[in-house]
Amino acid sequence: MEAIRVHQFGEPEVLRLEQVPTPQPGSGQALVRMQAIGVNPVETYIRAGIYSYKPALPYTPGNDGAGVVEQIGDSVTEFKPGDRVYTAGSISGTYAEFALCKTEQVHRLPVNVSFAQGAAMGTPYATAYRGLFQRAGAKPGETVLVHGASGGVGTAAVQLARARGLRVFGTAGSDEGRKLAREQGAHEVFDHRAPDQFEQIMKATGGRGVDVIVELLANVNLGKDLTILAKGGRVVIIGSRGRVEIDPRDAMQRDADLRGMVMPNTPPAELASIHAALVAGLENGTLRPVIGKEFRLAEAAQAHRAVMEPGAFGKIVFVPEK
Ligand code: NAP
Repeated sequence: MEAIRVHQFGEPEVLRLEQVPTPQPGSGQALVRMQAIGVNPVETYIRAGIYSYKPALPYTPGNDGAGVVEQIGDSVTEFKPGDRVYTAGSISGTYAEFALCKTEQVHRLPVNVSFAQGAAMGTPYATAYRGLFQRAGAKPGETVLVHGASGGVGTAAVQLARARGLRVFGTAGSDEGRKLAREQGAHEVFDHRAPDQFEQIMKATGGRGVDVIVELLANVNLGKDLTILAKGGRVVIIGSRGRVEIDPRDAMQRDADLRGMVMPNTPPAELASIHAALVAGLENGTLRPVIGKEFRLAEAAQAHRAVMEPGAFGKIVFVPEK
């Protein structure tokens, strides 16, 4: 099969399309033929060798994808060949024609959802759900600021929060991104490049502050985030690309919580609960992943550059043909 292989950490050009043996599913495993593959920022950090987790070289990147079950191993009863599925994690890496997965990494993809949309579930939607509900404890009636509402995690957070009955504020750095955030359910949108964005957000809450902030770029925003929280407010830190200075008194005065998260820390039972909720959301139409750009696997280097560019618009995926 064709797969992207990384033989050394470095620039996007280290992503090479090669022929490798097709893996065979063992007990409790399924082989999925990928019809779409999700591209996430974390895969660029790992490829560059700057992330805390460094896979043994060579490796095939990728966590997310969607496709059809090709083969199942012994003792697999949950799936059969031909089933439409999405993957959230894999043993062999999803940047490939086939991905070998544990059955708990495979979830049913409803018929009303495209493969490209399925490839947005594993990391972005699961992260948004965990951040909002399991880490920040966001409740219906509360106000949430999705700080970075135009990308993969942000659009997912807007849809999830709106469907749960929260008042949703979203930010983006471009007009297209703000339009997208509004279309996905944000009641109010703001420009995270505007120098007075925090004043605008505070004003929109009538001076009370927001209950929850889903923070996608904490190294830029965390210090100011603490100044626009309501009493008892929570910031869930999902994305950060550097250091930041905060004034702890801003948290003290508000009895505020800073809650970090990375998806690999999610306990298995909570992960299963997340995907049960996500599949239900896909079935009932409240979750509608937005696909921004599509690339072929042979264009992996371009895709890795695109996912790090400003002006996010939904999800970037690989598809077999453009
Ligand atoms: P993405 O699709 O590339 O989106 C990036 C988002 O960040 C866009 O909405 C972008 O908005 C926004 N952004 C840019 N400048 C910003 C600013 N000054 N303030 C607030 N937001 C800003 O990436 P993604 O997949 O959504 O992931 C977002 C971040 O979360 C990444 O850093 C990723 O590594 C991290 N992440 C962490 C976990 C975890 O387990 N903790 C899981 C998934 C993702 P514009 O482009 O419109 O400016």
